[in-house]
Amino acid sequence: MKTLENVAAYRHFIDGEEQPSAGGRTFDVRNPANGTLVARVAEGGAGEVERAVDAARRAFADGRWSRLPVRERCRILSAFAQEIERALPSLSTLESTCTGRPLREMRAQLSRLPEFYRYFAAIARTAEDSVTPFEGPYLNYVRRVPLGVVGQITPWNHPLLILTKKLAPALAAGNTVVVKPSEYTPLTTLALARIALDAGMPPGVFNVVTGFGSEAGRALSSHPGLAKLDLTGGTETGRVVAQAAGANLVRVNCELGGKAPVIVLPDADLEQAAGGAIFAAFIASGQTCIAGARILVHESQAEEFAERMIARAEALRLGDPLLPSTQLGPLVSERQLQRTEHYVAVGMQEGAQIACGGKRATAPELRDGYFFEPTIFTGVRSPMRIAQEEIFGPVTCVLSYRNVDEAVRIANDIPFGLGASIWTSDAAKGMKLAERLECGIVWINDHHRIDPALPWGGMKGSGMGRECGIEGYREYTQTKSVVVNLDEPVDWYATTDVVRLS
Ligand code: NAD
Repeated sequence: MKTLENVAAYRHFIDGEEQPSAGGRTFDVRNPANGTLVARVAEGGAGEVERAVDAARRAFADGRWSRLPVRERCRILSAFAQEIERALPSLSTLESTCTGRPLREMRAQLSRLPEFYRYFAAIARTAEDSVTPFEGPYLNYVRRVPLGVVGQITPWNHPLLILTKKLAPALAAGNTVVVKPSEYTPLTTLALARIALDAGMPPGVFNVVTGFGSEAGRALSSHPGLAKLDLTGGTETGRVVAQAAGANLVRVNCELGGKAPVIVLPDADLEQAAGGAIFAAFIASGQTCIAGARILVHESQAEEFAERMIARAEALRLGDPLLPSTQLGPLVSERQLQRTEHYVAVGMQEGAQIACGGKRATAPELRDGYFFEPTIFTGVRSPMRIAQEEIFGPVTCVLSYRNVDEAVRIANDIPFGLGASIWTSDAAKGMKLAERLECGIVWINDHHRIDPALPWGGMKGSGMGRECGIEGYREYTQTKSVVVNLDEPVDWYATTDVVRLS
């Protein structure tokens, strides 16, 4: 049992230093697998955000990062990537302890992080500016320059991966950053800021303010000193944050909620597709924005397919996330557990059938954690709330369709549009169907697969803007046009000649 004296204490990371909150306010971070206290963390508000934005503004203005020769900036990012690689075992354990996600998942996910810093460093190092076909004796060259201070607000489900998708391009492009991580999982973000400093990143370039969305998040998103605000979170949070930033004419990127369809075409290998559907639905205990939450199966195969999924779901091993044998961890919080229970009750009221799961896990060793059994609803129709609203727990719905047109209608009949997957033995058929889906990312015979080069983002209520890829890098830059007159300047008021100005 941890006593208060030996609980780890974490503070904000501002201007290259750990800093407490004014008044010493803190909040607790707990392990969702067993409820134990993991750390006491400084609780920031407007004052701490002000300090961090000011540090980032000074770091941007004096050019210690933004005007560093790109080769040097990329060298530091490569060193950062290497230090992250070294720290992967401890980062994975800490991430698993705070999110409740199995260590195996965290290792697999975090092992990709260094690649993102190397990829964006390579883009920055190889980026070429352009020259426009400007008419007349002029040279118009267009440079891409950093934006300034950017605010990044992140969620708890993939704390380091989501931060990295924003941080790597922001830093590579020469911006300075203030991050507000989720109040559930701030520890690895603080650890990353320390690693960056140790790898040679100048103080003030990467700052972290910890605290709640209602206070620290709100202060950051409404700060007029930002050049951009980049949020990953729920769709409602996106609306609030985009309004606050928009009032200051701060550009906004929002990666928001989702409820991905998994479309199984009749020609698919059903066993492979069932494995894919289970992976899509239950990785991270269903707490992902691209969770396969609506499994669309042809009516002639729906029953058989559900049986295959049920057999696989019932075989999943729930347990301590740090054990290598564990396949499904707890939900992140009591709140998320209650939300899941609530939606299961809603589904039953709506007339859907629980084919497996549907309740908290009851094994004695799981009782102190927020564990919920993997749950499959059958007999679901698209208008039901369980098929329309983001549950963010280990709950998925099987819906049947009569033909491809109906599958497309159901897939698109939702306010979200982030990801989807199609399972088929005919790639051309899959590609044709992909064209008809209203979402930002479609996998064919896969799900959840990411890469730093993949432009990531949603349509409709799933957000605006894109992260990753060349587009994601560009969104962390702005153009600056320089127009050089290669001839004698026109003395406008000294001549009566007809001169074209545009
Ligand atoms: P959330 O919206 O509750 O919180 C996200 C972040 O925003 C947290 O840091 C929180 O403190 C902060 N926040 C909350 N209210 C705020 C406010 N009023 N002003 C400023 N900041 C505020 O989301 P969550 O529960 O942490 O994460 C789950 C959500 O994130 C889901 O909806 C999921 O779909 C979404 N998500 C989207 C993507 C994507 O790439 N599109 C990826 C992961 C998660």
